[in-house]
Amino acid sequence: MSPELNEKLRELPSVDEVMHRLDARCPRELLANETRRIIEQVRERMRRGEYIEVGTIPARVLEALETLERPSLRRVINATGVVLHTNLGRAPLPAAPPVDGYSNLEYDLDTGKRGKRDIHVSTLLERLTGKPGIVVNNNAAAVWLALNELAAGHEVLVSRGELIEIGDGFRIPDIMTRSGVILREVGTTNRTRIDDYRHAITDRTKVLMRVHASNFRMSGFTSTPPISELVSLAHERDLTVYEDLGSGCLVDLRPWGVDEPSVGESIEAGVDLVSFSGDKLLGGPQAGLLAGDEELIKQLRRNPMFRAFRVDKLIYSALEATLRHTLFCHWERVPTLHMIALPANQIRNRAEELAGQMDGLQAEVLPGLSIIGGGTTPEQALPTFLIALQAPDVNELEERLRTGEPAVIARIEDDRLILDLRTVFPEEEDELLNALRRARDTSLPTC
Ligand SMILES: *Cc1c(COP(=O)(O)O)cnc(C)c1O
Repeated sequence: MSPELNEKLRELPSVDEVMHRLDARCPRELLANETRRIIEQVRERMRRGEYIEVGTIPARVLEALETLERPSLRRVINATGVVLHTNLGRAPLPAAPPVDGYSNLEYDLDTGKRGKRDIHVSTLLERLTGKPGIVVNNNAAAVWLALNELAAGHEVLVSRGELIEIGDGFRIPDIMTRSGVILREVGTTNRTRIDDYRHAITDRTKVLMRVHASNFRMSGFTSTPPISELVSLAHERDLTVYEDLGSGCLVDLRPWGVDEPSVGESIEAGVDLVSFSGDKLLGGPQAGLLAGDEELIKQLRRNPMFRAFRVDKLIYSALEATLRHTLFCHWERVPTLHMIALPANQIRNRAEELAGQMDGLQAEVLPGLSIIGGGTTPEQALPTFLIALQAPDVNELEERLRTGEPAVIARIEDDRLILDLRTVFPEEEDELLNALRRARDTSLPTC
């Protein structure tokens, strides 16, 4: 170590010295720990050759404490136009204030006896899908539970074209292995026929499984038997059909140009059990929903892992609200559905209005596409109108928006900042405008 560096490291204050200079309203031990952490950090950076003014240490401690005190999980304005944005919490939550304090989570108020937590959504789910259902943590857990309960130690047949990875490590073959079932691949990557399933059935086969291709798509020389053929074959041979629907749309979104298979269609076709996510096209909180044959649902509930996968009252209140709004066709209260249904010309009007108020930044309104995202097929896009902003330094503008309060998330394309109001709540527009003005003003050169 150079004598110079040695000298500088010796200048570092002690924890006590820093604490004496601070007037922080927090527990002493927390303050001491933060101070120690910051001094250590500064020492480490000095060793690496960085120049750091020792006098800034108290301010660094205060800043660290402020960061700790501020909620880390916060609302952001999503101006990306991706409705189900995986990094921004997937489905925007409907307004469903959590039940404070105690609740009747597992208490039957009519009988005064112990109740089941599922009842808060099971009736709604049955009305919506036509079959009883249960809720677990997410669809990944639902897939695991379904396979484990239906076929552990037995064979499950899946088309080679459906052995997908949806991202973040969720791969169908891996989850099948971990659930204890034996995967039997049938057909080829691009084409699978009903006879491929028929010929693969052995006396160890228990389930024919279908998996929604999710965020990938095959085109060209492809084929797969309709679900009704799978159902006939399975029932002829006393097997179960289980379908992992992925998004699990409860509403027919075709009028809005979104082609996703609905839960109801699968159930009507005779599928014994379906599973789907709560926070994709359903538009609710993170959850995995399983619906189907009453006996199977009872069986799933008795699986010891059901207890490990169960969800909390926070989820039940948000899910209950989402399902109820859906049942009563209050689309406007389920933000995901509302955003998908927004007509492009309405977005154009809002975009033009906002662009007109952005003096000082060159703004243009252009036609473009919003993306549904969240594991729906990649082609699922909706026509929209975008605000394209020019700025002296567009990267800096993007960063200022992203790090502001509330954070505004937008994308850069062709050196312009692109905003899509489809995913911005109308009541957020004033905040968005203010954020843009602040970001614009701070990026102007100062003299
Ligand atoms: C999204 C998806 C899953 C996983 O659902 P999560 O709720 O994210 O756990 C499983 N299968 C398919 C086909 C999916 O699209």
